[in-house]
Amino acid sequence: VTPGTSPFRGRADRLSAKLEESSLDLLLVTNLVNVRYLCGFTGTNGLCLVGGRERIFLTDFRYVQRARDEAPDYELVQGKRDLLGKVAELVEERGGAGVRLGFDDVHLSVRQHAKLADRLSAGVELVAAGGMVEELRAIKDHSELAAIRSAAAIADALYRWLIEEHGLTGQTELSVARALERRAQDMGAEAVAFPPIVAAAANGALPHAVPRDVAIPGDTLVVVDLGCRVDGYCSDCTRTLATGSVDGEAREVYELVQSAQSAARAAVREGIEAAAVDAAAREKIARAGRAEEFGHPTGHGVGLEVHEDPRLSPDAGGALAAGNVVTIEPGIYVPERLGVRIEDLVVVRPDGCEVLTLVPRDLITAG
Ligand code: ZN
Ligand code: ZN
Repeated sequence: VTPGTSPFRGRADRLSAKLEESSLDLLLVTNLVNVRYLCGFTGTNGLCLVGGRERIFLTDFRYVQRARDEAPDYELVQGKRDLLGKVAELVEERGGAGVRLGFDDVHLSVRQHAKLADRLSAGVELVAAGGMVEELRAIKDHSELAAIRSAAAIADALYRWLIEEHGLTGQTELSVARALERRAQDMGAEAVAFPPIVAAAANGALPHAVPRDVAIPGDTLVVVDLGCRVDGYCSDCTRTLATGSVDGEAREVYELVQSAQSAARAAVREGIEAAAVDAAAREKIARAGRAEEFGHPTGHGVGLEVHEDPRLSPDAGGALAAGNVVTIEPGIYVPERLGVRIEDLVVVRPDGCEVLTLVPRDLITAG
């Protein structure tokens, strides 16, 4: 990255603007995913202190060299392994009493909070400010979209390999899941984004099915949920494949999920309520009398974490914004018989969405 084009400077500047809106002088960022997002550091002990102009990264001696390499846009401060003592010193240097210091009340433990409060002078105000970095993370910049796009493209290639070369029938769910994991790395992914789900027949009726050491039969449906990771960023895609001819109910359920998924995908654009996208899928399924068989949200944001903001559920507040990357993944789960889920990953645009997962959605026979 050449000077001036680092995405981290823009992120810190956007965070500074949010701090000003909230009348905070400094924000202490302790969650490591948020730390990575803000400054680029990928180690396991570090935190950021961001203010109007402050861009400070703290770590201990083990990570000093890594921090110089990964987080050059931040002023590096070395502390002891417990970094909170150093944070208190830095806050006192910046005025102490009267300073409003935001902290992440979602991730900072009660014990850490007490320790920090103990070391700060009485006038420093600790303000609960969780979720600020997550809000920034929900809107992806160019470098993030490039990584997610690559991760989705590798998963697409994995599906093609699975369908055209590897096949399903007669192999165990577990062996297919492991083969996908190895192949993901061979194809250039850092890793899979989560352990792949391969769930045939009745096992597919569990939304969070775990692959079993059980052979996949012919003439059934198999739910395959798969994501890759590139530069820390995830992709997420589900296709339900057939291993031969499938009967009336399976086909009927498949077509219903496909139409619900299309309806939700068609609803996506900048400004639409997240709950309205969920409703677009849910109403189709409810009208067919299967509301009870669709028990999870329609989608979720994807980025450095495979599940992040925004959430697309019936009770989600807020609207989608251009640059959100979300899944659209309705499913129907018929207990003890079968499950169907179709999941795309899309980028929200002003007038619709761009689909990143390009495996066809019509029922594919994988053999
Ligand atoms: Zn998924
Ligand atoms: Zn998902």
